[in-house]
Amino acid sequence: MEDNKKIYLIRTGEVALKGMNKPYFERMLLSRIRNTLRDYQNIEAYRKEGLIFVKTPAEYSEEEIEKRILRVFGVASLSSAVETESDMEVIGQAAAVYMKKMMTERNVRTFKVEAKRVDKTFPVESPAIASRTGAAILRACGDDGLKVDVHDPDCVLFVNVRRDQTYIFADKIRGFGGLPLGTNGKGMILLSGGIDSPVASWMMAKRGMMIEAVHFHSFPYTSERAREKVYDLAGILAGYCGTIRVHSVNILNIQQAIGEHCPENEMTILTRRFMMKIAERVAKKTGCQVLITGESIGQVASQTVQGLVVTDNAVEMPVMRPLIAMDKVDIMDRAREIGTYETSIEPYEDCCTVFLPKHPATKPKLDRILESESKLDVEALIAEAMETLETVAVNADRI
Ligand code: ATP
Ligand code: MG
Repeated sequence: MEDNKKIYLIRTGEVALKGMNKPYFERMLLSRIRNTLRDYQNIEAYRKEGLIFVKTPAEYSEEEIEKRILRVFGVASLSSAVETESDMEVIGQAAAVYMKKMMTERNVRTFKVEAKRVDKTFPVESPAIASRTGAAILRACGDDGLKVDVHDPDCVLFVNVRRDQTYIFADKIRGFGGLPLGTNGKGMILLSGGIDSPVASWMMAKRGMMIEAVHFHSFPYTSERAREKVYDLAGILAGYCGTIRVHSVNILNIQQAIGEHCPENEMTILTRRFMMKIAERVAKKTGCQVLITGESIGQVASQTVQGLVVTDNAVEMPVMRPLIAMDKVDIMDRAREIGTYETSIEPYEDCCTVFLPKHPATKPKLDRILESESKLDVEALIAEAMETLETVAVNADRI
């Protein structure tokens, strides 16, 4: 191992199951990993034998490098490792040095070795690699009180013997898994300032989908600060998805027209149909293939199955609802994990709450809703709203 380098082993999980397309997915993943480390100098990142390796100068913060890599979708797990020659003598020495460090840094007192001979031409079989490495460690550290415990060790030392090199490591940190960004088209998320839609964006991006966002507001009934909050959320998401374009559209004219011409209890569902139609227009203009929402069945009045059917009917484009079967508490947990929760709960008004009916229809009938909608000049209202469209590219530096 070159002393002045650190090496990280990256496992690719589902990407590895891709059969014929595997090289494509691996290349995409590699380019995402390179991209996330782009402000560092002298980084090497390469694919080899089904893994991705990242080599950095030793002085770079391990924590920072790991944090960045673990945010990349498609990374199943990560180990910061020591690289040695594939030679039993050298492996034993390196493992002993590694274990000494674990004793001082993590107060490790018991260990076991798990060996994997990936290169089947290596003359020593896996169980023998493990026992011989364990013996070398004991020779070096036994006097300091280190013992083997195969049942419940403080530290499991992995020895991974590959063709040219061997890797020694103790930790496997789980990533989010999923698929590399850009391997699955582009979707338009309807992004409110709430808890759900940022999680929905993140979940689709985790499956490889690029994300653009559309946000609806009702200036001057909703404030500039409320929109800033949505940009802040996009900034957090950009830490996973790269720059996100956020389109915002004022729908006050639409809400007022509905208020004037339609039954009060249909306000929410009619507004939602307009949101979907406008989102679909923006999606078509920007090359998005699907719409995405943060809806979850039964969560609020407009998300009953009848409500969802009436909403869906407003557009031709497929609508993806990754949270559809998730409970609110689980969505909230995910929001905390990805870092959007604290921003989502900031108390700013939303265009839907400004015009919230006292008793929203929970079982809207499509024909009744279409009847109400026919009292409006849908095309003209949409065209007027589209005039207010503003687009901002939000990147992760915002946060
Ligand atoms: P969220 O936490 O995402 O706001 P919610 O539980 O408050 O969701 P609703 O307000 O009914 O639910 O909205 C359902 C979905 O409709 C949202 O997840 C989002 O995709 C979309 N949506 C609602 N309001 C807006 C808005 N102002 N701009 C863009 N999309 C919106
Ligand atoms: Mg909302």
